This record gives sequence, structure tokens and C-alpha cells, in this order.
Amino acid sequence: MGDSPYRVLGVSKDATDAEIKRVYRKLARQHHPDRNPGDAAAEERFKAIQAAYDQIGTAAARKEYDQQIRMEEMFARGGNPFPGFGGGGGFRSGGFGGGQGFDFSDILNQFMGGMGGAEAQHQQRSRQQSHPSQPPPVKRGPDIEAGIDITLQQALNGAKIEFGHRRLRICERCEGTSFNSRKPCPKCSGKGVESRSSTITVSVPSGAQHGQQLRLKKMGHEHPQGEAGDLLITIRLDAEEGRRWEGGRLIQEVPVPYSTLILGGSVRIRTPAGKRVQIEVIEGTRIGDRRRLVGHGHDGGPLDIEFILAEPEKVSKEQKEALEQLRESGL
Ligand SMILES: [Zn+2]
Repeated sequence: MGDSPYRVLGVSKDATDAEIKRVYRKLARQHHPDRNPGDAAAEERFKAIQAAYDQIGTAAARKEYDQQIRMEEMFARGGNPFPGFGGGGGFRSGGFGGGQGFDFSDILNQFMGGMGGAEAQHQQRSRQQSHPSQPPPVKRGPDIEAGIDITLQQALNGAKIEFGHRRLRICERCEGTSFNSRKPCPKCSGKGVESRSSTITVSVPSGAQHGQQLRLKKMGHEHPQGEAGDLLITIRLDAEEGRRWEGGRLIQEVPVPYSTLILGGSVRIRTPAGKRVQIEVIEGTRIGDRRRLVGHGHDGGPLDIEFILAEPEKVSKEQKEALEQLRESGL
């Protein structure tokens, strides 16, 4: 497996979908072959950025990718997503190829390893006999983790968010009874569960924080013979253009003209609360320098501003002449 698409794009795992889009556009512009003619490394980088964006660039693709990674991690740890299902060791972790669609029933197929019910039950019995001190596994479907994106304003006021949810539900035809039976149900092929989609409404409490997790009991995958897992939703606050979260801190980029960085001066910014604030730029400020503004962040918290270079869209004739003079002077 290559690098994680999050790492390739340089975004944190709890970035909102909108932030991923903004970062992608910026990187794609920066590394576009047209802007880097003859630079093979830039072209490679551009391709890697495209590939990463294909994986997590849309909400649906990202959901699928995240789910796949979580399953792979679960199996790598030796975990069993369906305690009580027979054939524990039969899962082929290599089965999740990149690119192709991901389906919960594929997990089940691989997990159950195509084993007949009776054989599976026998295996489970002998496994339990060899570890008599271990309690029998709790029959519970796996939890589902997902993210939900809201605006800073929605976080302050609370919000009701529609959430497209796909999970394993008890088969409507056999009601789970055909799980591990000799006569598999034609609808679920004897799994007792099937993948179904629904739209649920998630209540986000007012004062919600970035990264906060909501636990929706029994809204995870259902187990044909036990209880359902939970749905864990991570709240992601979209900080909007020019802002990002960094380890729970809100960072706002402040573009400053080069002359102001060198000579000092002031710039005006708009805070997340929509307030206009004048910032003094001290002489000799460098790109990347930061300053903390107490009380101007989200929900009255601190706002960390980071000075970046303001790049002019257009340069006037006078400015060009002035720049030429500066070049001659060695600046
Ligand atoms: Zn069924």
C-alpha cells in the first residue's frame, strides 16, 4: 500500500470534506505539469495528488475509504468484527483491493470463508474448548465510525443533520434465523444480515467541538444472533477558506504584502465570528510567523493567525517599475 491519501494531501484525518477540496485545488494548481514543464518529480507528485483525491475527494468515496481502512486495521490487530460467526481465522486481509467498490457483504463472505454452518459451529466449539478460561464471545455487531461536517455557526447553535447511513441489518426475509443454518435463506445467503441504506437525522448539540464524538447506541452493524454495534460520529467543523484545525487549534492564514512584512505595518482580518480586526505586523515579520489572538477564535476561544505572503493577482506598471528598481538594489 502506498502513502495514505490524507498524508499525500497534507490534511488531518478529521479535516472536513470542504477543506480536503480546498487543499486539493491549491496543490493541483501548484504541481500542475503546465506550471512545472519538464519536471518529472512534479509530474509524479501531481499524479499522487490526483490519486489521493480520487480516494477521499468526495464524501461517498471518503466514507468508503475510511470504512475499508478501519476494517483492515481491525483485522491486522487480530480482532473479530463479528464475534460468534464461525471460521475466525479465515479472513483474507489482502482481499480488499484498492479501487474496486467496497461492500459489507464482501466482508462477510470473506470472513465466513465460504464455510458451511455446521463446520463453522464445530470450529467454534473446539476453539472454545481449547481456551476454557475465556468467556464465550459477546455476540455484537461491529461499531461504525463516521464523520459529519458542520459549519462553525451550526456548532454554536446546534443542528439537525441528515446522514446517509449504510449498515448491516437483520435480513427481512429470514429475520436472521438462517445464519449458520443448513438451509441458507436465498435473500441473505445464510448470513442472516444484509446491507441496507437509510437516512437518519443526527442531533448535534449546541456548543459542539471539533473532533467531538457522538455515540448513537445500536445504530452500528446488526448481528444476526446478538445485539447491534454503535454508530460513532465524529463532528468536524468546517473552518472555511483560509482556516484550518491543527490539533484542536484554529489557525487562520493572514496574507501580508511583502513590503509590509519587511517594513512593518498593519492588515485587517475577518475573524471566525465575522468581526473585522486590525493586526499590527511588526517590522521583519517572516512568512509562517504566528500570533495568538485571545477570544477571537471559535466560541470565544483563541485564534492563531499565521502570516503568509499575499500574492498579487495583477501587478500595475508602476509597481513593476518599482520592483525593477528593487531588483537593481539587490532586494
Ligand atoms: Zn435471510
